[in-house]
Order: sequence, then C-alpha cells, then structure tokens
Amino acid sequence: MILRFPLVALALAIAAPASADPLNDAIAADMPGLMATYHDLHIHPELSFREIRSSAILAEAAKKAGFEVSTGVGKTGVVAVLRNGPGPVLLLRADMDALPVTEQTGLTFASTVPGVMHACGHDTHMTAWIGVARRMAAMKDQWSGTLVMIGQPAEEIGQGARAMLKDGLYSRFPKPTVTIAFHDSASLPAGTIGYVDGYTMANVDSVDILVKGIGGHGAYPHLTKDPIVLAARIVTSLQTLISREIDPLESGVVTVGSFQAGTKHNIIPSEAKLQITVRSYTPEVRKQLLDGIARIAKGEAIAAGMPDDAMPIVTLQDQFTPATFNTHKLTAEMADRFAARFGKDRVRAVRAQMGGEDFSEYHLADPANEALLFWVGGVPQAKWDAAKGDVTKLPSLHSPFWAPDAPKVISTAIEAMTTAAIHVLAKNTH
Ligand SMILES: [Zn+2]
Ligand SMILES: [Zn+2]
Repeated sequence: MILRFPLVALALAIAAPASADPLNDAIAADMPGLMATYHDLHIHPELSFREIRSSAILAEAAKKAGFEVSTGVGKTGVVAVLRNGPGPVLLLRADMDALPVTEQTGLTFASTVPGVMHACGHDTHMTAWIGVARRMAAMKDQWSGTLVMIGQPAEEIGQGARAMLKDGLYSRFPKPTVTIAFHDSASLPAGTIGYVDGYTMANVDSVDILVKGIGGHGAYPHLTKDPIVLAARIVTSLQTLISREIDPLESGVVTVGSFQAGTKHNIIPSEAKLQITVRSYTPEVRKQLLDGIARIAKGEAIAAGMPDDAMPIVTLQDQFTPATFNTHKLTAEMADRFAARFGKDRVRAVRAQMGGEDFSEYHLADPANEALLFWVGGVPQAKWDAAKGDVTKLPSLHSPFWAPDAPKVISTAIEAMTTAAIHVLAKNTH
C-alpha cells in the first residue's frame, strides 16, 4: 500500500499537463503536511479555554509564514497579523475548542483524550487556517491591505469571541472592515459550499424557572399547591408562544429541556425547576419570547392560586449567544466568487439553522464590519450517496460518530478562504 501512492502520483504527474491553477497546485503540495497537523490536532482535542497546545500550533505556523503573532488573547486566543500595504483589514477566524464527547468513529487517529473529541470539526478549521496563512503569505504580490487571522477559543460555550474582543481584539490589533469564517457541515456533501444571506444562526438564550408550590402529603392535595401540576401547565402554555404569538413567518424555538421536581410517590414537593432553551433570529422575536415566558409563568401561578409572594422566579442566564448575520453585500459577492471558482454545482444557498455561533460577536461589536460565516460540506461522498442525501440518516455535528472527509473539507476551505481573502484585499480596488 505504501508504494501505491508515489506510483499513482508519478503516473498522474506524467499523464497530466501542467496545471493552469497555481493556487490548487500549492494547496495540493501543502496537503500532506497539513493532514499530519490535522491528525495531530484530532488526536489531542482540548476543551473550551484550554486550547493551549492547539493555539501553540497555530501561533508557530503563522510565525513561520511571516505573521506578527500574539498569544493569550482572550485567555488562549491567537492573533496573527500580516501587514501588506494600504487597503482594507480582513479578519479570518478559526475556532479551536473540542467537546466533552467520547469519540466512537473508530478512526486510526481518534482522540486519545478520554471523554474529549473534535466532534464539531474545529480541527478542520484550524488546519485550513494554517493553509490559508501560508497561501496568503506566499501570494503577497497579489493583494494589498492587512490580514488578521485569529484562532478563537471557547466557541462551544459561546464565550471565546467575547473574551477576545474584551481583551482588545479591535483596539490592540488592526480593526477589521470584513470578517470571514467557515464551518464544516454535516448536512452537505464533502467539498461543496453552502451559504445563507442574512440570519444564518440563531440567538440562543437559556432561561431557568423556579416554580414554587406549597408541599405536603400526596393523599391531601387540597391542603397543598402542587408545583408539578403548575409547572406542567407552564410547559404546555409555553407551546403557544411559537404557535399563537409570533408572526408565522418569523422563526423561534422554545424547548423545555429539563423538568425536575419531587422525591417520592406520596409527597407533593414545594418546588419544581424548568430549564428552557430559547432560539430566535431578530431582537424583536427574542424579546417577545422572553417576555412571554415570564408572563406565562406568572399568569399560570396566579391561575393556580399561588400567593403574591410565591410567584415563579424566572432567570435569564447571561450566557446569551447572539444570532449570526451574514451581511448582504459581502454574501452576494462571495456567492458569486465561489460559484465562479468552484462551479455552480458545488455552491448552494442553504437554509438557516437555529443552532448558535459566537461568530456573531465580530459583526455586533462593530456593525460596519461586514461578516460572512459559510459552510464547507464534510459528509464523505459514499456516505452521502448511501443516505441519498437524507441527513437524518447521517451523524450530525457533535455526534461521537462525526468523521468528515477531512482532506476535502480542508482543501476546499483553503481554496475558498484564500479566494475570498484575495477578493476582499484585491489590489487597486481600494
Ligand atoms: Zn459545535
Ligand atoms: Zn463548531
């Protein structure tokens, strides 16, 4: 088997005419080394804000490529800057953290860290980031401006972007006019590109409700106020927020993910606890849902006859992740560029999702900063074909079985990100 690759490569080299595409040739030449880095990152995943090893690998690679590199930005973040004359400031972002998931892919390079896995594919993001840094450094004569490349910690807990911004990302370093990132996708075949114009990922809020009751013996309900029945009514009434209160053409999710109460068959407890995830795109719908949850909780408690001093306590957790918005002009330009580069078959407008991404923070911190987060398909073609494109039959992101076609994700992402960067920083257009 070992001999086959050089022979195939040799045969191709003899048979194929000189390629007319220097970018793809350079990416192909870089891929063996990048795949070694990818395997290394995949074997050694690190949880949010603990990306010590990963960030050192990015920092080292960027330094070698000629970037000025700062580490420890927002705890474990990396900022690599390449100044190349007048022009816009482009920020490219890769997130670095893994998840508390026990890998079950069976890959030869599976995680060796117990209970931790790159199940969201951030290792493909980091590897492509290194490839893009090298390409942009090598192609300096083709662009003008400033390139800021960041390795962001803690995306999975929605805190890393905020941590980097708080640590001076826009004040200590050149402030971006355009920000771009990609994410691998478990809903697109490997090597394709998906994008959404406008809202692409949702506002994510977490709400806790402490439902108070008056506990007592299960045989004497008339002497109590049962918080389980009250909390159950609240859960049911919450369903009407989406079905009856928001505009049918808007999007939202209210999911009660946890309902905890009681200890035993014959005891009516004195409280019940609900944990709710709330998803939306617009600030208006977000407010409508959060206000509605508080109103329904209180209203149901009043209907149950709870005294004024025992109303439910509704708490909005402060770990809010804002919706990710792809700005229209940049999205349209990139959709055109990608279609021209990859062909229309490989580039498609896809549906927005109600998942969360803290990439949103970079645009929100400065609304003049245009932003795009696009998808690079990762589902191996054979698996895609076997499932006939039915994604419910395929492992999703965060699944212990998620094993993207990494070479295709990485090479496509480098090609797309470099194409995007060269377009944004094109010479003589600014
Ligand atoms: Zn994730
Ligand atoms: Zn992710």
